[in-house]
Amino acid sequence: MQGYILNVTRVRDEDLIVSVLSQNTLHTLYRFYGARHSQINIGYKIDFEVEYQLQYLPKLRNILHLGSPWLKDLGKMQAWQSFIKILYAHLKEAEEIEGFYFQLLEDLNRRFTKQNPKRALIEGYVKLLDHEGRLQTRNRCFICEEKIDENPVLVRAFLPACQRCIDGFAIRKEALGSLYRYYDSQFLNEAEIEYLYSILLEGV
Ligand SMILES: [Zn+2]
Repeated sequence: MQGYILNVTRVRDEDLIVSVLSQNTLHTLYRFYGARHSQINIGYKIDFEVEYQLQYLPKLRNILHLGSPWLKDLGKMQAWQSFIKILYAHLKEAEEIEGFYFQLLEDLNRRFTKQNPKRALIEGYVKLLDHEGRLQTRNRCFICEEKIDENPVLVRAFLPACQRCIDGFAIRKEALGSLYRYYDSQFLNEAEIEYLYSILLEGV
């Protein structure tokens, strides 16, 4: 089956515990001598098999790294791994994983080839918040609960605040509306993208 490596923990000298997100499962798998194998890296898409064993973690077997055209682009790889770490922190306690998350990575993986990685990730982050019913599109300040008429200041999970409550960088509301409605970041300028990306890095 196919999956994305979301986390790698070294145990003993050369063994690894590897978390792999497949279509509907976040697997926790054991890999002997895994530290020697370059195809086990956070963010990599792999084809793999699971070998179940009694009373211990299942084993990660027959790994094949499925490369992407953008993998050698260091900036894209760093952005990708940052997002993967955020996603792992978000999903690691979940009991059931919907196919949405694997599909989100599939979509982002494809789009990374041509699109600016920060824009792609911001659009993906909004999609994720929307999917979880957490995207605040009503434009009401989460602190004073007043309607926000000017441009909003956003915090983690893109919660909006008015400029009286939080003194921060405001995002133009028209550009934000287009991002929320169409998952499209094209109307956001570079400063806005940098700012939204810095919020994204705080986590889901
Ligand atoms: Zn307020």
